[in-house]
Parts: sequence; C-alpha cells; structure tokens
Amino acid sequence: MKPKKKDIRALTKDQLRDFFVENGDKAFRGNQVYEWLWHKAVHSFDDMTSLSKATREMLDEHFVINHIEVDAMQRSNDGTIKNAIKLHDGLIVESVLIPTPTRTTACVSSQVGCSLDCKFCATARLKRMRNLNPDEIYDQVVAIDQQSRLYHNHKLSNIVFMGMGEPLMNYNNVIKAIDKITSEEGLGMSPKRITVSTSGVPKIIKKMADDEVKFNLAVSLHSAIDEVRTSIMPFNATFPLDDLREALEYWYAKTKRKITYEYIVWGGINDRKEDIKALVDFCKYVPCKVNLIEYNPIDDGEFQQASSLAINNYISNLEMHDITVNVRRSRGKDIDAACGQLANKS
Ligand code: SAH
Repeated sequence: MKPKKKDIRALTKDQLRDFFVENGDKAFRGNQVYEWLWHKAVHSFDDMTSLSKATREMLDEHFVINHIEVDAMQRSNDGTIKNAIKLHDGLIVESVLIPTPTRTTACVSSQVGCSLDCKFCATARLKRMRNLNPDEIYDQVVAIDQQSRLYHNHKLSNIVFMGMGEPLMNYNNVIKAIDKITSEEGLGMSPKRITVSTSGVPKIIKKMADDEVKFNLAVSLHSAIDEVRTSIMPFNATFPLDDLREALEYWYAKTKRKITYEYIVWGGINDRKEDIKALVDFCKYVPCKVNLIEYNPIDDGEFQQASSLAINNYISNLEMHDITVNVRRSRGKDIDAACGQLANKS
C-alpha cells in the first residue's frame, strides 16, 4: 500500500526548503511554494503556475493540500454572512462575516464543537470533537476576506476568535494561525485588529503574556461572583475568579494592554445590585472596558435577556466608576449567526 500523503501545510518553510534540496532542486523552490500555499492561498498544486509541470507533479506525488470548503453560505438581511465550513475530514464548523459601515470583521472558530459547557451557548451542545489545525483557522480568514471584497468592496479589517470553541484550549494552533495571518508572508494583518476571546484559562493567559503576543484579549465574564458564574459556566469551578484575576493582573503587568470583559445580563441570574457591585469591583483590578452583549436566545427560554432597567443600572454604575461600557447589538440573528448561536443547525 502506498504511504499516506502528508499535508504540505504542516511543513515549516525550512522543511519545505529541505524537501527540495533532498529531491535535487534548489532550496529557493521551497520559498516559492510557501508563498503559493500561504500568501496566495491556493488549494491545488496545478494553480502554482510559476512552477514547472514536473515540479507540480512531484509535489502531487508526495503531498496533499488539505483545505476547507465553504459548504453553505447564508446572508442575513443586515448583511452578516454565515458560512458552514467543511473540513477535509468532513466535519463542519461555522464562521461569520460581520460588516459595519467602517469595518468588516471575521468571527472564526478554533475548535469543532467545544469542551466548555456554558449553559447559555448553543455550541456547548455539540461537545468538542477536535481542535482546528492552523491552516483551517487561516483558511476561514481567507474565505471571509474574499467574501468581504466580493460583497462589501473592501478587504477584511478585523478578526475575532468568537466562533466555535475555546481558543485557549487550542493555544498552539491558534498562535500558529495568527502568526501566519499577521506575517507579510501570509495576510499581513495587524495583530491590533485581532481579538482572542476566552472563558479564561489562567495558565494560558499567563503564557500569552510571557509569549508577548500583540493581539487583544477579551474575557467572557458574565458574572464576577463565583457561585453565579459556576452555575452558568461550570468551567469556573476549576478556574475560579481569583485565579482568573491573578492571571489578568499578570497579563496587564507584562503587556500594559487593557482587557475587554464580555458580559450578558440575564433576568433572575445576574441582574441584582450585588451582581453589579461585584462587576464594578472586579473591573478595578486591571484596566479594562466592558462590552454588554445582547443575549441571543438559543432554546427553551431558560435564559432571558434582563430588562432595560437592569441593563441601564449596569451602565450607570459602571460609568459612575469611570469604567468604559459599550452595548453590543447582535448581528445576523435571523440566520443564527449571532454570538452563541453557532451550532451547525443546517
Ligand atoms: N470560548 C470563547 C469564544 C467563543 S464564545 C469564549 O468563551 O469567549 C464568544 C462569545 O459569545 C463569548 O463572549 C460568549 O460568552 C458569547 N455567547 C455565548 N452564547 C451566547 C448567547 N447565547 N448570546 C450571546 N452571547 C453568547
């Protein structure tokens, strides 16, 4: 039986250069192929038109280019586009393009399903099946950039890791993907326009600070009281708020970059005075801002968006303490593309 062909995008540039030398060609050929694979993001050796036919055939004998396929695309009446992305092994993840008059943002997935069990999130129902590879994360960005140019006449401007999965539970691959996205050999995007959103894995937040990453950090907080947070995000039992706080202090000391807290207010869960007070106190540890996110209902109504009165109480209390707060309206709700609604329904 023939050995299984390797995925060529698992190779580093040096490994590609070595491959050509070992096969009697120039190392430089490796650079050319690397450029086709990443910067030009082609999905077939035949498209590498600067290479000779013999070279393309040789590559084809040894390697495959595993790549994603946009399996289905839905467009919301607010311009949001949701993609069902088919991976090389047939599994599906979703990614979303969110246009505003001034920017287009790609919301990408980092895992197939998710191992966290957040009670309010549709992705949690899928369980985690596997991590995405760096190229699978990269390809989502390329696909959305193409859609942005096609439907909105400008290139992609921002990326948020707020699709399916917990990015810090697939840290190595997320970092490799971001390296490619930000490098001139890849898409050349600024890390300042990338936000990684996490439920908060303290050890990895510290590692990110040590690694001196240049992208932004958002933490899905939703409650600053352990008991409440654990009831809606069971993962908080393993990584309680004290550990999270300590990691965030470490992050700020090293990076000097503000943290964004994402926060949904639900009626009967975190809409009491003490919930607001706990958030205000938590916000004093590290320079931050708060994004109040609109809740996107996912099922039987166990969770309900809080009243406008409760939300206004949050806003006025935070502002009274000089904490920046933004209210984030949902986008793409009609096609289940909004935060927490990604569940491969179609
Ligand atoms: N695991 C990461 C990233 C994926 S979730 C994280 O926890 O941050 C992206 C954001 O959507 C998070 O802030 C999450 O709390 C929020 N979210 C999840 N379900 C939601 C829902 N039903 N409505 C609104 N936001 C939701």
